[in-house]
Amino acid sequence: MRTEIATLGEFGLIDRLTEGIKLENESSKYGVGDDAAVLSYPSEKQILVTTDLLMEGVHFDLTYVPLKHLGYKSAVVNFSDIYAMNGTPRQITVSLGVSKRFSVEDMDELYAGIRLACQQYNVDIVGGDTTSSLTGLTISITCIGDADKDKVVYRNGAKETDLICVSGDLGGAYMGLQLLEREKSVLKGEKDVQPDFTGKEYLLERQLKPEARKDIIEKLAAANIIPTSMMDVSDGLSSELMHICKQSNAGCRVYEEHIPIDYQTAVMAEEFNMNLTTCAMNGGEDYELLFTVPIAEHEKVSQMEGIRLIGHITKPELGCALVTRDGQEFELKAQGWNPLKEDK
Ligand SMILES: [Mg+2]
Repeated sequence: MRTEIATLGEFGLIDRLTEGIKLENESSKYGVGDDAAVLSYPSEKQILVTTDLLMEGVHFDLTYVPLKHLGYKSAVVNFSDIYAMNGTPRQITVSLGVSKRFSVEDMDELYAGIRLACQQYNVDIVGGDTTSSLTGLTISITCIGDADKDKVVYRNGAKETDLICVSGDLGGAYMGLQLLEREKSVLKGEKDVQPDFTGKEYLLERQLKPEARKDIIEKLAAANIIPTSMMDVSDGLSSELMHICKQSNAGCRVYEEHIPIDYQTAVMAEEFNMNLTTCAMNGGEDYELLFTVPIAEHEKVSQMEGIRLIGHITKPELGCALVTRDGQEFELKAQGWNPLKEDK
């Protein structure tokens, strides 16, 4: 079944997509339906705002990304940025640019993913806009959240001797992308490999349905730990470490042997003949949390499940480096995935 968007019109489409939305957060006073949403935050809170723009062909490829997954991911990556400030996401607005290629049913799918993510993370959709685009699909989501005034964590607070921690494992989302790209070239007849995703489900999930680390923020709060700096790993560990060090006026040493990598990621890197450490350091889109804590918290963080100590902060003069298993030091380079830097 395919219904042209024109048959509903812009307002009809918005009505359909936002039908039945119930507001869950106390700070959401009024959502979709007027000229603006109304939010009300208590004065002891700091309000966090983040926004993300995704363009078809640049940030996502619909030949292998289902629309529902795309909706889910585009919401979750925004939540991840709010958690990375040690906050809690509360509301989003969703703006879409949609070409004629897409039907009302396509938008239902996309929105189903966005709404599922909101349900999962207890976030309210409070507004947005839909407009026609000449080519492709554009998704812009803005997320609003809050944090206790004295608990917001920035990128610039890392101090010499602080421990560097990361949640989960790294490189999986990148390997998932390689796998999907290979599948795509097989479908196009460019490559002659039988696509087989058996045993690689975790990698696909990391790429197609990432989660934001709400649980880590909760664990840290429960353990009474406020990181000195934090950010989420969207462009790759190397690049994020350099952001933290630059903004904190510090250097760092991270140890190759401590970088958390899943077994499936390692198998895949070998299959693709790629350097595993490079994949984990530069892969990106893992949406794990990278943070620093004072050395006094060593015992507490080292016992926390799902968190790995990977190195420490140094004086700025020492620069940022990866220490390999045989003790060699390599200066970190940001090879992060940044479409603006690529010349294609
Ligand atoms: Mg971020």
